[in-house]
Amino acid sequence: MSEVVKNYKKIIDEISRYNKKFSSTSKNPKLIAVSKTFPETIIQEVINQGQLIFGENRVQEAVQKWTNLKKKNKKIELHLIGPLQSNKVREALNIFDVIQTIDREKVVRKIKESLEETSNKQFFVQVNIGGESQKSGVLISELNDFLDWCCNDINLKVNGLMCIPPLEKEPSYYFNLLRNLCDKHKLSHASMGMSGDFTKAIQFGATYLRVGSRIFGRRS
Ligand SMILES: *Cc1c(COP(=O)(O)O)cnc(C)c1O
Repeated sequence: MSEVVKNYKKIIDEISRYNKKFSSTSKNPKLIAVSKTFPETIIQEVINQGQLIFGENRVQEAVQKWTNLKKKNKKIELHLIGPLQSNKVREALNIFDVIQTIDREKVVRKIKESLEETSNKQFFVQVNIGGESQKSGVLISELNDFLDWCCNDINLKVNGLMCIPPLEKEPSYYFNLLRNLCDKHKLSHASMGMSGDFTKAIQFGATYLRVGSRIFGRRS
């Protein structure tokens, strides 16, 4: 068994243990295997284990790797978890099933323009949960208006929120905050928790966990 397959099985076990441990608050989150920087051959090993949900952070890289991988594996659900520029929207919609990083009006307008009527793609708004100046995402103080604008002015359905808590801080507070924001705005999905903190994200009611290095190894 390869290292990556071993890692993957371990993560699946761990998620299942923490779902039980926090059964009163866990939403039984789905695992997004974050495969950025790793090649098709390695990704295919994880697909062969039954994993169908993957995350990438660059549109160009995703097109290169996943056009082929999606042809071979029909049920893949691919998430964009990195920044999206409005000039990449069309390309992004061609390859991704879920876009988690909506954070500005220009991108929303472009999505609405490019989206087919019958599309079943999903959209999450990225929240700058720690109010950090260098991070992307909508500030909490602006979230209400932004969601209202997406829903009522543009008529783009938002399905969830995603966040990356401040690096040096204990993440529980921020996970709890994102969960509460999802509940307040009646959004189904909370995307939170990475390799270092996904067990806490389970505890606080994530519906998607984004785990990369604990499965694929360190990125160069
Ligand atoms: C890279 C990345 C991840 C995965 O990070 P790991 O620490 O390797 O698990 C999760 N979310 C986002 C937004 C990322 O860019």
